[in-house]
Amino acid sequence: MQNIAEIVPGVFWVKGTLGSNIYIRMTNGGRPIVIDGGFPSDFFKIKKVLDRDLLSRPVLAVATHYHLDHVGSLYELKRRYGLKIAAHQEDANVIEGKEAFEIYKLDPFRRIYYTALSPFLFQYKHTHVELKISGVKSFLPGGELLAIHIPGHTIGSIALLDCENGILFSGDSVRNEKGRIEGPPPQFSTDSALARRTLRERLIDVDFNILLPGHGEPIVKDAKKAFAGRFLRGEG
Ligand SMILES: [Zn+2]
Ligand SMILES: [Zn+2]
Repeated sequence: MQNIAEIVPGVFWVKGTLGSNIYIRMTNGGRPIVIDGGFPSDFFKIKKVLDRDLLSRPVLAVATHYHLDHVGSLYELKRRYGLKIAAHQEDANVIEGKEAFEIYKLDPFRRIYYTALSPFLFQYKHTHVELKISGVKSFLPGGELLAIHIPGHTIGSIALLDCENGILFSGDSVRNEKGRIEGPPPQFSTDSALARRTLRERLIDVDFNILLPGHGEPIVKDAKKAFAGRFLRGEG
């Protein structure tokens, strides 16, 4: 299948999305968990993968944070598959539409650009978050994925650690665009300095070999070393 890459057995990257990277991780019981949802139109790309014969019905979709390029398809995913939505409790209100998106620190030109485009690009429907993640580190049901709270990009940003496969799903807290490992984009972040600090503090003792970022190419080996070089020695 062209639009999908199997990173390790049971962990898939849905390629060619318009919004964020989207990953699908099979539980040990063989049920798919969707990690991030891209823009609304990315639903069709996820659906194509999920509807393949070998995948059973997904049980959960986890949003690493509330930005539109990560939560766009959640509403449709729930409608189609009846899955549950998980997100950190600090970001859940925005996903549910109870709180407005925080105003980005955009320059005036970009603000106009995004405002003008938003009705077309972001036809997003709010959705209820059934599983509100709390605390600094907490396991999702089943105990296979550990949610690590990394406030700073948004106040409720999380990364997910797949201990069994040594994979960190980093959302936008760590990106790998242009072949360079980076923290969250400052113009879209509520507090970049806080993000860098929590990245350092909360990932220093976390082991992973593979990094699956919200944007950019996956890093499939020695990811912790690359991360440490960028963030743990104070230059991040
Ligand atoms: Zn993003
Ligand atoms: Zn973001």
